[in-house]
Amino acid sequence: ANSILSGYGTTIFTVMSQMAVEYDAVNLGQGFPDVDGPEDIRKHAADSLMMDSNQYPPMMGLPDLRQAVADHNRRFYDLDIDWQSEVMVTSGATEALADAIFGLIEPGDEVVLIEPLYDCYLPLVRRAGGIPKTVRIEPPAWDLDQAALAGVFSEKTKLLILNNPMNPAAKVFNGDELAFIAGLLQQYDAYALCDEVYEHLVFDGRAHIPLMTLPGMRERCVRVGSAGKTFSLTGWKIGYITAPANLLQPIAKAHQFFTFTTPPNLQKAVAYGLRQDDGYYRAFQADLEAKRDLLASGLKAQGWWVPDSQGTYFVSADITPFARESEDDVAFCTRLTQDVGVAAVPISAFYDSDAPRSFIRFCFCKREPVLQEALEKLSVLN
Ligand code: PMP
Ligand code: GLN
Repeated sequence: ANSILSGYGTTIFTVMSQMAVEYDAVNLGQGFPDVDGPEDIRKHAADSLMMDSNQYPPMMGLPDLRQAVADHNRRFYDLDIDWQSEVMVTSGATEALADAIFGLIEPGDEVVLIEPLYDCYLPLVRRAGGIPKTVRIEPPAWDLDQAALAGVFSEKTKLLILNNPMNPAAKVFNGDELAFIAGLLQQYDAYALCDEVYEHLVFDGRAHIPLMTLPGMRERCVRVGSAGKTFSLTGWKIGYITAPANLLQPIAKAHQFFTFTTPPNLQKAVAYGLRQDDGYYRAFQADLEAKRDLLASGLKAQGWWVPDSQGTYFVSADITPFARESEDDVAFCTRLTQDVGVAAVPISAFYDSDAPRSFIRFCFCKREPVLQEALEKLSVLN
């Protein structure tokens, strides 16, 4: 049977990871670390599996984790959050996004999205009956065109989906850009779904500013985080939503029918994880910044055109110096994986249509020798 979703192919992350395995390539495609997160957090989960209940935890999430999420919001962003009415635990940020989109969008509502966009947004918005209105930021600067953004808002706009720090552009929105966005949300009486899974990965002394912290935005923002990203445990799929109670209620309705709940033992370990001291978060950020430096400077030294990576797991690169005639980003990534032995992701996969065809994304959350090996392999292109 045909449906909105059957028109989509397999996600680019699965396609590239499978190709990397098949051709034994260094996998800098799909975003996942090659070292698991802190042992004490994993030990907590293992102990909890043996000592605590393995039955359905509360639908909204374990109180311990919801309190830890509220505390984390206060510690890093000075946000005053009521853990009982304003926090919900989900099976990864992906489920949080689906819950929010299905909970808040009515058929015919317009949803503003910024391209290049993370791959699950469009299928979810469309399946919920929303009408996507996309605006682009352009490489290499990835600056927000404020007039273009204002141009896609209308009286029908219900929601803006804002990914900050942004995958795959590796852009971190600054205070001025966020203030402009906040003004539009107020003007059009719209909400923001803030995908902030990379909140702790911003580089070069930048600060991550949740849109929710701007004046007037506390009531309008649904903020999504992911333990997978913050603790390098992407397979755990523990996400969390912080939102005002009147927005969280319909979102929780979607959650109760999608998954209802999330493994209790992993929730308990993530609660412990979120309470790590500031040193953990600093070291995590510094470690990833060093990896970014290694990969980005290595690529530049080989002649790649590399836009600034301000945050996330990723660095983008323009393939123009190395692409063969009429070779687009997809063909280039295929050749890179099969012949050169390095997998990356074509950035055209992050657009609805008419995508630019000369940018690819490398993931740098890998051990240094792995990044070195990738760079060595890439040097055959010179
Ligand atoms: N949003 C963005 C921007 C992502 O890059 C990812 C993937 N890692 C997710 C959401 C999904 O996060 P999770 O694995 O917690 O579902
Ligand atoms: N977020 C990861 C990325 O951008 C992939 C997650 C997934 O495979 N769905 O690469």
